[in-house]
Amino acid sequence: MYTLGIETSCDETSCAITKNCKVVSNITISSLKEHKKYGGIVPEIATRAHLQNINIVFNLALKSADITKEKIDLISVTNSPGLIGSLVVGVNFAKALSLALKKPFIGVNHLHSHFFAPYLDYKRKIKFPFLSLVVSGGHTEIYLVKNFNDIKILGKTRDDACGEVFDKIAKAYHLGYPGGPVIDKLFNDAYKKEFSFKCGKIGLDLSFSGIKTALMYKKIQMEKNGRFDLKMKTKLVSSFQYAALETIVLTTLEAVKKFKIYRVACGGGVLANRYLRCRLLEIEKKTGISFLISPKKYTGDNAAMVAGLGFYLYNNLGIKHNLKMKPEAN
Ligand code: AMP
Ligand code: MG
Repeated sequence: MYTLGIETSCDETSCAITKNCKVVSNITISSLKEHKKYGGIVPEIATRAHLQNINIVFNLALKSADITKEKIDLISVTNSPGLIGSLVVGVNFAKALSLALKKPFIGVNHLHSHFFAPYLDYKRKIKFPFLSLVVSGGHTEIYLVKNFNDIKILGKTRDDACGEVFDKIAKAYHLGYPGGPVIDKLFNDAYKKEFSFKCGKIGLDLSFSGIKTALMYKKIQMEKNGRFDLKMKTKLVSSFQYAALETIVLTTLEAVKKFKIYRVACGGGVLANRYLRCRLLEIEKKTGISFLISPKKYTGDNAAMVAGLGFYLYNNLGIKHNLKMKPEAN
């Protein structure tokens, strides 16, 4: 069964073809460069880029999979959460195709697709229940997944998402955009405890706005002292990355202990981080807790995970949508 996945929730326009759960093609055009000078995503620019790119990406995905559009059996599209203007482009494209090709379509939750990513290409067999960790530019959440239609949020950030804070700190420190990959690259293990930063934590909920403010005050202080050079920035962002990611790791372990579920599917852009990936694998070795980490190529927003989850929901849970289905920003 060929599934077309469509992802347009933020700044990536992506289409993928999966054959059952195997990824046959996955094409993404990002409008990231157009947002760079603003140091963050501008929704209007993202929407216009989706409009320009969706048809191109769709045709490239078909070409790369070496199939015609008539071969598509199911259309799976991200319908929440995301930027509403961006979601509308993907959802309407999916509905139009569904009408024209007379094929069913299904709307999937973007965050659920992030933690479906480790199961793509039949890398692992899905065993319920499991916990999941999504850390991205817009979300930082821990879930209990009894099935893909029975998902409960156990904890989440009460303010900024972790990736968002990487981006905002890098912007304030003039290190570039997006901040996650830049800080990941600058990170120096020797400096991880140079400053002792803390993140907020209430049960399994998290807070990152305080650590962001602390980094901003450090900038002002160091600038006053004439010490805000690259070495100082490296010390500060290394200590920040360590504190933020360790808080996420420890909170995840708390959830594992509390619910006695020893499988954690992890996805989202921040899971590309080298320190975080190594740390989770190190814990896996020591404790036996399985961390199913999204392959790096599927950590950022992509349509392969959308196609994979849509295929699963349609075949295992009998879910599909009619043309009245609406995209939802949250
Ligand atoms: P997403 O929202 O899933 O598209 O992921 C984008 C977010 O992931 C942005 O906030 C990026 O800064 C962040 N990100 C990407 N790569 C890394 C990395 N290597 N380390 C930390 N954060 C990252
Ligand atoms: Mg995402």
